[in-house]
Amino acid sequence: MTTLTREHFAELDRQDPLAGFREQFDLPPGHIYLNGNSLGVLPKAAKARAREVVEQEWGQGLIRSWNSADWIHIPRRVGDKIAGLIGAAAGEVVVADSTSVNLFKLAAAAVELRPGRSKILSEPGNFPTDLYILQGLERFQHGRVRLNTVHRNEILDAIDEDTALVVLTHVHYKSGAMFDMAAITQRAHDKGALVLWDLSHSTGAVPLALNRVGADFAIGCGYKYLNGGPGAPGFLFVAERHQAQLQQPLSGWFGHADSFAMRDDYEPAPGIERTLCGTTPVVGASLLEVGVDIMVSADMEQVRTKSLQMGELFIALVEQRLGPYGFGLVSSKDPAVRGSQVSLRHEQEGFAIMQALIARNIIGDFRAPDILRFGFTPLYLRYVDLWDCVDALADIMATAEWDRPEFKRLTAVT
Ligand SMILES: *Cc1c(COP(=O)(O)O)cnc(C)c1O
Repeated sequence: MTTLTREHFAELDRQDPLAGFREQFDLPPGHIYLNGNSLGVLPKAAKARAREVVEQEWGQGLIRSWNSADWIHIPRRVGDKIAGLIGAAAGEVVVADSTSVNLFKLAAAAVELRPGRSKILSEPGNFPTDLYILQGLERFQHGRVRLNTVHRNEILDAIDEDTALVVLTHVHYKSGAMFDMAAITQRAHDKGALVLWDLSHSTGAVPLALNRVGADFAIGCGYKYLNGGPGAPGFLFVAERHQAQLQQPLSGWFGHADSFAMRDDYEPAPGIERTLCGTTPVVGASLLEVGVDIMVSADMEQVRTKSLQMGELFIALVEQRLGPYGFGLVSSKDPAVRGSQVSLRHEQEGFAIMQALIARNIIGDFRAPDILRFGFTPLYLRYVDLWDCVDALADIMATAEWDRPEFKRLTAVT
């Protein structure tokens, strides 16, 4: 490739069809934010919405707002919007609980649909909460189901007649590697198994077509690419064909067919609402809706095109500028199997290098033991940001700035 210049990146920004979205976000001045894959940024409209939901709906409306502000329908209303982002239909998605809790509800319900089978299949190195929740489900089921993890390249062959459920994260949080959702779902169905996809690093990042590939179940995160705010509720998807048989273990009153009839006996709601448990976190879900509305207004194909171009250019810059400094590329160069991030490895000093970068207000993150992650969020990231990030990295390495003691102190959250 010809030598890249900052002007080349500035020109791409001038031609970028998504450039106008950046104004909708409240980025702190002078910052380059490459961590929207972990916590998305604040939409400007969320500030006004937060005031409204707290001061008006809660403050003035009080309990009446369950009806007058339609709080009661938030899970479905926001869920239906997310459905449009993931290739699902209205009535197949709700916003509720956290991603971890949603995984427990759906995985427990899914294995009940395959009573003669004992295996849940996943990969080692999956996002920790996914494995921990499945380990909890093993205990909850007194060993009737067991978790089996096999290397991602061996998943297809490991799906067999004893497999009840395959649980995979579509885009891997550390490497950005993306599974072939269609192929794995097809193989699982051929063997009579079900699949649950964790879309935490996919929703709002890559085009998804759950119903086209015949997906069974999915869960996902509200505070990453959807910009829902810290601790925003998660979402879940159940294909319409499974809903009538689905029985989830957290059978709380919001999942009841008639929540306010106050009867003693549980009777699941007829549709997707049966996956709800308790009261919706109204403030968080209202702010999530703001982020979802912005994402829905963007063209996902344009988002994907820009994201992939950013990944390709970032990799080219790393090769051009960081060659001598001991970085390795963890993410694939093949766009077909890469999500919306590029991860680098630095065996000795990854943590300190990331701290030095963050001290310059260029924010990526570090994942133990040696991974530096750079997430690309096409709605608010500019091409020149990539140039400036790698330029700063080259300077940090050339001057050994990372070697300062303040960059080696461990923090509670990396
Ligand atoms: C971020 C993330 C989660 C988050 O789960 P929480 O319950 O919100 O803490 C789960 N799974 C994956 C793959 C993630 O990336």
